[in-house]
Amino acid sequence: MTEAAPLFPATIAGSLPKPGWLAETHKLWPQWRAEGADLEEAKRDATLLWLREQEAAGLDILCDGEMSRQHFVHGFVENVAGIDRANKVEIGIRDNRYKAMVPRVVGKLELTGRAHPWEGAFLRANTSRKIKFTLPGPMTIMDTVSDHYYGDRVKTAFAFADLLNQEARALQADGVDVIQFDEPAFNAYTRQAADWGIEALHRAMDGLTCTTAVHICYGYGIQANIEWKRMLGSEWRQYEDFFPALAKSRVDQVSLECANSRVPPDLMALLAGKQVMVGVIDVATDRVETPEEVLATIETALQFVPRDKLLPATNCGLAPLDRSLAAAKLKALGEGTRLAREKFA
Ligand code: ZN
Repeated sequence: MTEAAPLFPATIAGSLPKPGWLAETHKLWPQWRAEGADLEEAKRDATLLWLREQEAAGLDILCDGEMSRQHFVHGFVENVAGIDRANKVEIGIRDNRYKAMVPRVVGKLELTGRAHPWEGAFLRANTSRKIKFTLPGPMTIMDTVSDHYYGDRVKTAFAFADLLNQEARALQADGVDVIQFDEPAFNAYTRQAADWGIEALHRAMDGLTCTTAVHICYGYGIQANIEWKRMLGSEWRQYEDFFPALAKSRVDQVSLECANSRVPPDLMALLAGKQVMVGVIDVATDRVETPEEVLATIETALQFVPRDKLLPATNCGLAPLDRSLAAAKLKALGEGTRLAREKFA
């Protein structure tokens, strides 16, 4: 953060609901409603709409809400050669938490061009606030494809990390202030996250001078996740396995979920030295938080995170929610942050 940054810069995890005129709603992998030039225009219109909503809500670090990609992993994978997307196979992903039809890696992985050719520059041209761009992390991409070429999960992840690095450097040149890698797979493979996942992230971040972030979470509020969370017991301590390694990493910001979560808040203390994106908005409920509830969650986090390192955020992406509900949750995030600023200024 520069010296001009406000106390508690507010941001979102990344995704937002696509308007019904852009794509199917309430889906994590929706079909587009338009094609060709109409689709390109609709993606830009939707990006602009959410930029204005985030500004109106008083957020400080703005995202494109993933308006130009169908899915947070496959939006990147679409632009990679060496992948057979026509003959998908079903595998268990996130340590078998879900079954998914995934594309196969069948050759050397290479970017076919920019994965996100216009998005960074478009955000930069349309807001004077800080902008963040999210990319899937190397472990999470690897875990969402089926490898038939590299023969090794770590090698496959590092091959993706090189491509992510290429795109991340280009996004930085477009004027992006924060590049965030989404690594929900860290929670499914906590030991591997510490053993090599963070090194793969370092490869993806190599040479970046902008702010870097990693988003880890317990996922969207979809049924498979709700059932998985029921099995995790009264305390969710997964973060404990790799937060000490993340604290020593070169990543600037780490996100975690906090609102309505069974993650013990004292685990945040394991991230000493990092900026912490604290999830103060639950994505798994249709109830909108009150600003006072957001303030209370920020106050809980302040017991473990220094005030100059706390960024109020959403627990995860808002993509599957109703558009109006997501807008209301953005407002609650902004209002609660404003209360915290007044209280702790
Ligand atoms: Zn998430």
